[in-house]
Amino acid sequence: MPILRAYRTELALNHQQITACKQHAGAARYAYNWGLRRKQEAYNATGKSPSAIDLHRELNALKKTELPWMYAVSKCAPQEALRNADAAYAQYFRRCHLKKAGQWQGTVGYPRFKSKKKGLGSFRLTGAIHVGAATIQLPRLGRLRLKERGYLPTANAQILSATVSEQAGHWYVSVQVEQEQVVPVNTGPVVGVDLGVKALATLSDGTVIANPKPLKRRLKKVKRLHNAMTRKQKGSHNRKKAARKLGKQYRQIANQRQNTLHQVTTRLAKTKAVIVIEDLHVAGMLKNYHLAQAIADVGFAEFRRQLTYKAVWYGSRVVVVSRWEPTSKCCSRCGWLDDDLTLADRVFQCAGCGLTLDRDPNAARNLERLAASSADT
Ligand SMILES: [Zn+2]
Repeated sequence: MPILRAYRTELALNHQQITACKQHAGAARYAYNWGLRRKQEAYNATGKSPSAIDLHRELNALKKTELPWMYAVSKCAPQEALRNADAAYAQYFRRCHLKKAGQWQGTVGYPRFKSKKKGLGSFRLTGAIHVGAATIQLPRLGRLRLKERGYLPTANAQILSATVSEQAGHWYVSVQVEQEQVVPVNTGPVVGVDLGVKALATLSDGTVIANPKPLKRRLKKVKRLHNAMTRKQKGSHNRKKAARKLGKQYRQIANQRQNTLHQVTTRLAKTKAVIVIEDLHVAGMLKNYHLAQAIADVGFAEFRRQLTYKAVWYGSRVVVVSRWEPTSKCCSRCGWLDDDLTLADRVFQCAGCGLTLDRDPNAARNLERLAASSADT
């Protein structure tokens, strides 16, 4: 079965290459902002929005007169940025549509201009991309060294595009490939997974996956670095230095969180045939301030996203139980309902059959039981 997948790895660039990447990111940002503005103007004037192809033609004409500096970068960078602008509008209209139908709770989010202040950004290239053992060759940029050897696929993979991005002074490349993958027959058990704040996940077989809580542990440091930054004068060299330190701290937190989630989701998708999770209303839960930080830290939505795509690779199924099912309040042995159960009650005690069990494993067992009656993702 052909599957789409992305591989992201860090680049080891020299100064010349960094300059070239910055130029490309700059051109992409310029094209994106220019495209958004052109779309707005055209929409206000005519009620129609020009497509990415129209805009690319227009931009190419401008290159000859007003934007000669754009010849220094691959034509893909602005072209793909215009496609992104197109996609941003399409997503915006989709959300407007859903909102009207009452199926969207969040804000509709009008596409915003990209600012250099938010980081150097990224750019996407297509065309002649070649991957070596420790290098990647990109249009215009030539051969770039990779920090990790052998991670990017060199065989049996069709490369669709490569996205280069900067984060806290580090450069990464993400390669989108289409790969032929033989999906194994997964003969593992059915498992219910209760996602939590105290423990990252509790499985119905009794396994508890601890939560690294990277943000909480580093929060003090982040607060200190943040304060240090705001004390420095705006626009000063010292402020930039402090911002870099803070960015580095955030990057480490994000990396650690991603790492843990990837380990857990891969293990589940590989070893279990059916994984039952609860459809947590993450957006609603995030409004509760006390839970907010911890939940954002655990990354529930990201957990589900990873699990869903990995299940396809490893031949397992993800089943989502409606959030209205009483998974915590219900006895996993006899079905008795404890209507008085609150978030503070960490132990479930059944008045029907006398079962005493921690709250989370009880919920996980209920999820496992609901596997047959619920829908796949
Ligand atoms: Zn019971």
